[in-house]
Amino acid sequence: QFDDMIYIDKLATVSEMAASFAHEIRNPLTTVRGFVQFLSQDTVDENVKKFAPIILEELDRTNQIITEYLTLAKPTSFQRQKVNIDDVLHTSVHLLSPLGTMTNVSLQLYTEGESDVYGDEHYLKQALLNVIKNGMEAIEYGGLVTIHKTVDEKEKQVIITIHDTGKGMTKEQLKNIGLPYYTTKSKGTGLGSMITARLIRQMGGTIAYESRLNVGTTVTITLPLYEGD
Ligand code: ADP
Ligand code: MG
Repeated sequence: QFDDMIYIDKLATVSEMAASFAHEIRNPLTTVRGFVQFLSQDTVDENVKKFAPIILEELDRTNQIITEYLTLAKPTSFQRQKVNIDDVLHTSVHLLSPLGTMTNVSLQLYTEGESDVYGDEHYLKQALLNVIKNGMEAIEYGGLVTIHKTVDEKEKQVIITIHDTGKGMTKEQLKNIGLPYYTTKSKGTGLGSMITARLIRQMGGTIAYESRLNVGTTVTITLPLYEGD
């Protein structure tokens, strides 16, 4: 029992360290990014200029990985309260619609019933963005991501389904989703689904995946309804 206590203590130290490293690394990255942008200017030699987009892309990827690790390292800032899930869904769709326009994916949102859940607004948004973005990224030549929100009054929960007409997954791929670093994308981190599942679980919810290869995927998320103070 005493060993367990020591172990938990060490774990806390590691996540605090991870969080502070992430912050320390981000500042110089931002500076470097600013200077690299100068390389895109017309006065710069073509031979140098052509590398600017690659450097920027890799910097942004580094930043993305740090952002995802920060979410893992900082569960302490997690605060559950009354959140309007319809607002969070609308914001998420709004944030992703430019990407949809670029990739020929149309986003549709339908909401029905009670909208207050008991969760953390910031992390809810992050979780939903992860899932919707995965749906969009699964679509190669244009398609549809449909989001439905309904309420199960009996179970006192909100049900959100995110359906995409993307490439789907094999049974094997479906088993791997949510494992750290599991990705089939050349520029993926393989952290999004793991973090999403953890966040939803922390909010007392559930997340489940159904998929058919070359047909599409449906992700079902449940979240507890807010039941008053
Ligand atoms: P990443 O998006 O960085 O690859 P994720 O953890 O978000 O990491 O997803 C892991 C993997 O799960 C993806 O690379 C993809 O293979 C698969 N996946 C997740 N969502 C979907 C989806 N909607 N359709 C098809 N495959 C998916
Ligand atoms: Mg992802």
